[in-house]
Amino acid sequence: MHEFRFDPVRLPASAQALRGEVRAFIAEQLAQGRFDPRVNSWGSRDPAFSKACGERGYIGMCWPKEYGGHERSALERYVVVEEMLALGAPVGAHWVADRQSGNQILKHGSERARRQILPQICAGECFFSIGMSEPDSGSDLAAVRTKAVKVEGGWKISGSKVWTSGAHEAHYLIALVRTAPLEDDRHAGMTQFIIDTAKPGFSTRPIYNLYGGHDFNECIFDDYFVEDDMVLGGVGSGWRMVTGELAFERSGPDRFMSTFQLLLESMRQIGTQPNEQEAAELGRLIAHLATLRRMSTSIAGQLELGANPAIEAALVKDIGTTFEREVPEVFRKLLGVEPSLGHSADYAENLGLTTLRAPSYTLRGGTREILRGMIARGLGLR
Ligand SMILES: Cc1cc2nc3c(=O)[nH]c(=O)nc-3n(C[C@H](O)[C@H](O)[C@H](O)COP(=O)(O)OP(=O)(O)OC[C@H]3O[C@@H](n4cnc5c(N)ncnc54)[C@H](O)[C@@H]3O)c2cc1C
Repeated sequence: MHEFRFDPVRLPASAQALRGEVRAFIAEQLAQGRFDPRVNSWGSRDPAFSKACGERGYIGMCWPKEYGGHERSALERYVVVEEMLALGAPVGAHWVADRQSGNQILKHGSERARRQILPQICAGECFFSIGMSEPDSGSDLAAVRTKAVKVEGGWKISGSKVWTSGAHEAHYLIALVRTAPLEDDRHAGMTQFIIDTAKPGFSTRPIYNLYGGHDFNECIFDDYFVEDDMVLGGVGSGWRMVTGELAFERSGPDRFMSTFQLLLESMRQIGTQPNEQEAAELGRLIAHLATLRRMSTSIAGQLELGANPAIEAALVKDIGTTFEREVPEVFRKLLGVEPSLGHSADYAENLGLTTLRAPSYTLRGGTREILRGMIARGLGLR
């Protein structure tokens, strides 16, 4: 049975010092009118803001200097990410590259991929998206049908991906592709490739979400040629790559802070004299948030030590996304505000948008049922 570990972590002084710097940077950006604090800020893309983050050294913070990184600790990075989300900064453009794709390239990419791509990510000028899901392959990723055929010097890819967040504005995506026929071992025969979205044979079509926004896409590969040195981690290692990547994807504060701005705004609406019910609900939500934060920093501490806390990360994502999904519902009932859409930037509007976004929080990055299956396996229950 897996032994769950959530050892307490004390943030080092360097990380605390960085918190003040990030707050000052964001205050400066706000004073210049560069952005409005947003709910789901890691879903809000603003390339100019990403570039400013790159100039400040806030992207690729833990990567080696020779690839444009800053050799800071995972806990220092944690503080930067947390402050960005707490202040509603539009970090979405560089989010995936910084959180997971760049790490994969650093660990498993060719030297050419590292030298060509990582410095651009660190500069806040190169954005990534994730090409895992397909029309008949979401939770069951081993069912991917997009396939690559070996040709001289590389591979030719044909097929399509869906729900690819931000692919229409990304420079690259990392795609999970079948490179050998499906056999008894369903997890064999898959490979991840780095896809340059500007090259011929790749195109995107928008898929509009519940509130009418264009975040995700269908991506189409039509005999797309990819060079051998844009394979990640070796041919056939796709499943291992994907599962390793998901540990980075699942444990961060982005998995419980998507609705943090709404929580803050709701507290402002309630004011300094909450009634008994408001005080009880606020107290409950804040206690949950504080606990989630401790669990998530503990995982950052383990990642820093080179561990792979995948089961712990699944637990944080499950509890965290349930929490962020609950926030709009609690305040809608508590404050008696009718959510609205398309009228103004007021509280009702924010509540309306968040209510429509909330169902996606427990789907993206792996559904609740899938995470609970992993946790149950970790507990030895299945
Ligand atoms: C906002 C958002 C952004 C996304 N961005 C991306 C992206 O950038 N890149 C990308 O590749 N994908 C992305 N996705 C896709 C996401 O990863 C999938 O939606 C998710 O993995 C579920 O797959 P599915 O939609 O095919 O549902 P299905 O896998 O068909 O699941 C349908 C239902 O059945 C349940 N279920 C399935 N299998 C089991 C099982 N074995 N046991 C118990 N229950 C099960 C699921 O929990 C779910 O409730 C995004 C999704 C959303 C909502």
